[in-house]
Amino acid sequence: MPTPAADHVNALLASYQDFPQAGILFRDLNPVFADATAFRALIDELAGRFRGEFDAVAGIEARGFLLAAAIGYAADVAVLAVRKGGKLPGTVLSEEYDLEYGSACLELEIGQLAPGARVLVVDDVLATGGTIAATSRLVERAGYRLTGVGVVLELTDLVGRARLGDAPVHAIVAL
Ligand code: AMP
Repeated sequence: MPTPAADHVNALLASYQDFPQAGILFRDLNPVFADATAFRALIDELAGRFRGEFDAVAGIEARGFLLAAAIGYAADVAVLAVRKGGKLPGTVLSEEYDLEYGSACLELEIGQLAPGARVLVVDDVLATGGTIAATSRLVERAGYRLTGVGVVLELTDLVGRARLGDAPVHAIVAL
C-alpha cells in the first residue's frame, strides 16, 4: 500500500529524458521538496522507519543534505555531510567510485562522532548504488556503524541495492 509520502512522490516527480546526457532518464525530486506537505511526509517516513536506530544521519552532497538536515532535526540527532572530493578541510577519508561514465570521489571528515556511533545514510535517488556504497565505506572506515539507508526513490532496473551491504534499505518509492 503506498504511503502518504509515496503518493506525494508519485504525484509530483518530474522526469526528463536525455538529461544531463543522452540515454539518462533524469528523475527530478525538486517539485516534491518544493511542496511543504510532501517534504514533511518524506522526512516523517524516513525518520519514522529508522526511529531509535541511529545516532547520526549522513547526507550525500547535494540533495542528500536537504534530507539529512531535516531528518536530523526531526530525530534530534547529529548530521554529517558527505562531500564531493576536495571540499573538506582537515583529515578526511576519501572513496573513489565508478559512475556510468568516469569516476567520482566522496569524502568524510574523521572524528565527528564517538566510535561505534550508529549512522543512517540518506540520499534522494538510489541508481547504480555506487554513491551509497562509497558512502557506506566511509562510514565504516570512520569507525561508525551503518544501521540504515534511506532514499526517496530507488531505480530498480539498475539493481543498486545489490551493491549495498547488510544494512536495511528503505525506499519511499521504487520504480
Ligand atoms: P548511483 O548511480 O546510485 O551512484 O547514483 C549517483 C547519484 O546520481 C545519486 O546521488 C543520485 O541522486 C543521482 N542519480 C543517478 N541516476 C539518477 C537519475 N536517473 N535521476 C536522478 N538522479 C540520479
